[in-house]
Amino acid sequence: MTTVIKNASQLLTLTGKNLGIVENGSVIINDGKISTIIQNSKFKIQNSKTIDAHNCVVMPGFIDCHTHLVFAGTRENEFSMRLEGKTYKQILKSGGGILQTVRATRQASERELFKLAQSRLDQLIKWGTTTVEIKSGYGLDTANELKILRVIKKLQKANQNRITIISTFMAAHAVPPDITKPNYIKKIIKEMIPKVAHAKLAQFCDVFCENFVFNATDSKKILLTAKKFGLIPKLHADEIESSGGAEIAGQVKAISAEHLLYPSDKGLKAMKKNNVIAVLLPGTTMFLKSKQIPPIDKMRKLGLTIALGSDYNPGTCMIYQMPIIIALGCLLYNLSLTEAIRGATINSAKALGLDKNIGTIQKGKDADLIILDVPDFRHIPYQFGKNLVKTVIKKGKVVYSVPAK
Ligand SMILES: [Zn+2]
Repeated sequence: MTTVIKNASQLLTLTGKNLGIVENGSVIINDGKISTIIQNSKFKIQNSKTIDAHNCVVMPGFIDCHTHLVFAGTRENEFSMRLEGKTYKQILKSGGGILQTVRATRQASERELFKLAQSRLDQLIKWGTTTVEIKSGYGLDTANELKILRVIKKLQKANQNRITIISTFMAAHAVPPDITKPNYIKKIIKEMIPKVAHAKLAQFCDVFCENFVFNATDSKKILLTAKKFGLIPKLHADEIESSGGAEIAGQVKAISAEHLLYPSDKGLKAMKKNNVIAVLLPGTTMFLKSKQIPPIDKMRKLGLTIALGSDYNPGTCMIYQMPIIIALGCLLYNLSLTEAIRGATINSAKALGLDKNIGTIQKGKDADLIILDVPDFRHIPYQFGKNLVKTVIKKGKVVYSVPAK
């Protein structure tokens, strides 16, 4: 089966160090893989399906390497508490924050959680996301963490031809109220990690590393155990305060460290030395009304690889639209548009260990592509909040297209 996407005004291949723009570009897809990139439209291929991309941008589908998409309930109350000046820590201490979602998620059945998550995934696809990572972390006990991971597995199966889903185990998201922290860590290490690994329910293990939740020592202990069981470490690092998260990311050779609003210089160097990807989440910065942004200049100077994720979750970021995240990366974090687009495609693929298969338009890679209804990629942040996605192609097949007018 051959498909040709013909005559895009700009084809963003993302190969090399920039956007790799091919003007008047066409892509030939064979059996779900990219086979040829051509710079002109005067060619004919027998027995092929043609998709006209005239006046459009064609680029790799967005890769969202950081979400908490499986949850029940909402937290608009907390949003307004923040508007009144309450901080993240104050909200958590009063039993709100993550713990509010934990209560709702524990009460929800597997079926209910699946339905909620599926309708969110449908929205992600419409906005051009072709690969998404989903974390557990709203169960905070063995039965409920496994329940969430089983929901993720069901979502993977139900959507395997529409969107790739990567699963991350994150019981170390908060300490539940009914157990002490040392006992909870013991439970994660002795009971949960072995069960998750045995049932092959996750590929990664994540920890919320903050002094007031799981400190650097706790995080290291959990991540090294996860590693022993074959789960790849990643961590929420230095989001609320400088807590040694970036250092731990280097020490345990995590694939990525996320947020990084307050990393130490030593931590950033440790990340560089161990090829840890810096995953930045500007949507959350906006939602939390944080004045702090990551030390982008230092990251650039060190040559860290910067990826972008949505951090879609019911408390601190309800934004799942990657074009908006790209815009916020530019507007809030001062990323260049090239850095932001690379962050949401090839570098996000690196943060999930998938860069051999996706993230660029290159011969041999999966044909995970999107067609935007604009002639120039600079419209992505410029038309803030408008969905420019016209067609979404997953492994060579159209999985979404805007209904004809
Ligand atoms: Zn997160």
